[in-house]
Amino acid sequence: MDYAFAPAPIVTLDAMSSRPFPVRRIFCIGMNYAAHVREMGGDPSKQEPVFFMKPASAILPNNSIMPYPPQSSDLQPEVEMVVALHKGGRNIPADKVDQNYVFGYAVGLDMTCRDLQRAARETGGPWEMAKAFDHSAPCTAITPEFYAGNIARGKIELKVNGEVRQSSDVSDMIMKVPEIVSHLSTLVELFPGDLIFTGTPAGVGPVEIGDVLEATVAGLEPLLITIGSNT
Ligand code: MN
Repeated sequence: MDYAFAPAPIVTLDAMSSRPFPVRRIFCIGMNYAAHVREMGGDPSKQEPVFFMKPASAILPNNSIMPYPPQSSDLQPEVEMVVALHKGGRNIPADKVDQNYVFGYAVGLDMTCRDLQRAARETGGPWEMAKAFDHSAPCTAITPEFYAGNIARGKIELKVNGEVRQSSDVSDMIMKVPEIVSHLSTLVELFPGDLIFTGTPAGVGPVEIGDVLEATVAGLEPLLITIGSNT
């Protein structure tokens, strides 16, 4: 096809011995750990799941320097387990979500400009630009399901400069992976290549230029990101 200009390259994530995983879209769920809902001023018993997106181009590979977004002065990382789909569909029943849908798992950081998000919340406007900015989705290679198994529990942690900031267990998720996939598939048709960031535990806070972030989920490759200059 002869396009008006060169189309954007396909964003991929490495997947161990498997061929690279082409990223189609990035979905995220917010407010999926009760302790984090409370620290954000919410009530876990009343909180509905919140879904939002980041563009595939926001993926930042492991071991990168993430430029501090110049539009923000309150950048906050959120450690999240990432689910990679190799089968999609509409209205997928939760009890059908198994390795036929889940290609594998990764560790991601849902980087958030908390000041922009707070300002948007105050005016009731969309907070998309607080979440979907450039390099806002650092992510490791994918560990395929046939190595990792079905991850329903395991320690999830974020260290900043070696100090533990966030520490929980993925079994503390309010909506589990099958329910997330199922619920999301009632809102949009899912496709192979879709990634889902599954929410963050309590302990979110700001980072500064020069900070070293180490995000881990038991059994998966750790994610190492350094915060770089904002110029
Ligand atoms: Mn998040």
